[in-house]
Amino acid sequence: MNSVFCNATGISEAQFLEAKHYSDVLPASVADSCKKSDQACLLQEVPHLSTEWLFFVDGREHLLEITKVRLLNKDGSIRGLIGIATDITERKEHEKQLQHIAHYDALTGVPNRVLLADRLSQALARAKRDQGLMAVCYLDLDGFKPVNDNFGHEVGDKVLVEITRRIKEVIREDDTVARLGGDEFVVLLVGMQAPEECAGSLTRLLEAINQPIEVMGRLINVSASIGVALYPEDDHDPDTLLRHADQAMYVAKQSGKNRYHLFDATNDQLARTHHELVQQIGHALVQGEFELYYQPKVQMQTHRMVGVEALIRWHHPQRGLLLPSQFLDVISGTELEVALGEWVIASAIDQLRVWREQGLFIEVSINVSAYHLQTPNFANRLKAQSDMCCPGNCYGTLQVEVLETAALEDVEGVGNIIRECKAFGMSFALDDFGTGYSSLSYLSKFDVDVLKIDQSFVRDMLFDKGDHAIVQGIISLAKAFDMGIVAEGVETDEQYQALLEMGCEVVQGFGVAEPMPAASLVEWAAKQKGASV
Ligand code: C2E
Ligand code: MG
Ligand code: MG
Repeated sequence: MNSVFCNATGISEAQFLEAKHYSDVLPASVADSCKKSDQACLLQEVPHLSTEWLFFVDGREHLLEITKVRLLNKDGSIRGLIGIATDITERKEHEKQLQHIAHYDALTGVPNRVLLADRLSQALARAKRDQGLMAVCYLDLDGFKPVNDNFGHEVGDKVLVEITRRIKEVIREDDTVARLGGDEFVVLLVGMQAPEECAGSLTRLLEAINQPIEVMGRLINVSASIGVALYPEDDHDPDTLLRHADQAMYVAKQSGKNRYHLFDATNDQLARTHHELVQQIGHALVQGEFELYYQPKVQMQTHRMVGVEALIRWHHPQRGLLLPSQFLDVISGTELEVALGEWVIASAIDQLRVWREQGLFIEVSINVSAYHLQTPNFANRLKAQSDMCCPGNCYGTLQVEVLETAALEDVEGVGNIIRECKAFGMSFALDDFGTGYSSLSYLSKFDVDVLKIDQSFVRDMLFDKGDHAIVQGIISLAKAFDMGIVAEGVETDEQYQALLEMGCEVVQGFGVAEPMPAASLVEWAAKQKGASV
């Protein structure tokens, strides 16, 4: 024994010297186990390792790691043993903390993906053995992203913590809730006898989550979409069950959110293609498989090209050239939609710059989804992007098209964003106008420059009196509000002529030109010039 040990344990040097054996001074339980490890050490040639818990004078129990080795006399007989002890309490605690970090979600304290995998295999094994039911529920919050965007991450975090608390309150002790990250959770429901029990739990989960949450004086509403894979009906390995639950969650989202959907093998294919398509789009964006085509808009009187509309195309490696209707819907309202929209803006602005350098000064309009338009700071970001890609200020020739129906969803919000963008000199068009039943009072809230008459009216106006009247009405409306007018989908000379007579100014349609790659546009424009001379 040395003074460090004496000081730490509070047993004095004198006590040790008086004692015949350490068992006289060390606590009995420690002494017993020390004696045992001594015995083991004496029997082996190599050093012996053991651990002991010992109370120190600081009042805490410390974990000592003890290495002992036997000492031999010259003749090989055993003389005794010598050992050294290290206090590894802190190291152990640190290890424990690391274990915790590796297995639990830092924000909510519930198991993370790693520990979930463990729990899931255990629960599945138990369900198999007991012939019980087990539900793997994949839960994704609806409307969480706007909470983060509008109120900040601090509020978002509080919401996640509260949601976790509510989930824990609903589930039973043997059930597990894990957070996979973001606003995604997995709940394992175990020990059930009938599927109805599962339905009850799911309904309670949805209800609990859907109650308003009060955070920092604000009332916040979120809901959840839950996908469920039920064992033994769905008899697969843990990973597959989790994937099935994930797919079912997408179906729940698509069928209107705030609901659960049970995975069902016949629907499997449907959900899978949907999920795969979303992944492919993300991949395609990285791989550069998207391209903007441009469709000219021409002045009716002069046939002069006044601008182009950028329309996205996807060069799919297997399926060939895809139109927006074949892929935009599945990413509607997602991060990916915003990422793709940002790509569209950047590409269009870059093209605008290239054309300017080639001496082609035209207006370029881009379609922006309502969700993208309402992301924080849209106007400033658009301006910054245009300043960066196209120095020398090209926002005067940049136009944003927003669907009339989308604009009507949030008249105030969209109206404000339009005003912000217009302050920089960008112009706005209401797309597919006439499909949103917009009233005059709404229209006055949108400070837009152009109305684009929806192509369905143009298509039928020559034989449908109602559509003819609508086209005429929109043209007069635009004039009254001092807005420009573009008729979309003009395919025939008759339509062109009729529109001209009605006072329409600009047309766009296959009858003038189909959407084309940027490189072809310069050629097309040159030919037009030649023709009109
Ligand atoms: P939109 O903005 O109303 O664009 C006009 C659509 O009508 C284009 O379809 C165009 O190819 C088509 N079109 C033009 N002239 C004619 C014609 O004479 N006859 C017929 N039948 N169709 C004509 P496209 O390119 O398939 O785009 C469809 C819609 O997808 C667009 O409608 C727009 O709402 C959306 N979209 C296209 N590109 C983007 C984009 O980059 N971002 C977003 N958010 N939406 C886009
Ligand atoms: Mg458009
Ligand atoms: Mg349109």
